[in-house]
Amino acid sequence: MRDPDCIFCKIVAGELPATIVDEDERTVCFMDIAPATRGHALVVPREHSADLLSIEADDLAAVNLAAQRLAVRVKDRLAADGVNLMNSCGAVAFQTVFHFHLHVIPRYEGDGLRLPWVPAPGDADEIAAAAQELGRQ
Ligand code: 5GP
Ligand code: ZN
Repeated sequence: MRDPDCIFCKIVAGELPATIVDEDERTVCFMDIAPATRGHALVVPREHSADLLSIEADDLAAVNLAAQRLAVRVKDRLAADGVNLMNSCGAVAFQTVFHFHLHVIPRYEGDGLRLPWVPAPGDADEIAAAAQELGRQ
């Protein structure tokens, strides 16, 4: 299924330009137009699904394998020192394009990128309470 209003569906269909660097039966990988670092790319499933909660399991597996493939290249060819894989699910989590995608972000010593939170010690009771709600019931 594709969504006629989705820019990533249009990229997958070749209706919008993109710099594609890898593809397979289920996935397409192209350069992000606003890269966080040199080589920042996105891996998307060919099939439209809005986000992590709705993507089909085989597509999710394929996207992760494609991202790993690209991460290897990022280290080998761009001489990155590390890689972040990132997915945002929901507007509150910074998602802006509602076709599932994994960011493959090459990391370089001194690139200046920061975590999206400020690490600080947590409250043990609150962690336990959240775990109680999160755990298998
Ligand atoms: P999100 O915020 O949803 O996690 O990430 C969306 C990403 O898509 C952003 O990093 C943004 O730069 C990228 N992006 C948005 N529109 C386009 C586009 O038309 N072409 C490409 N190549 N990337 C896009
Ligand atoms: Zn789409």
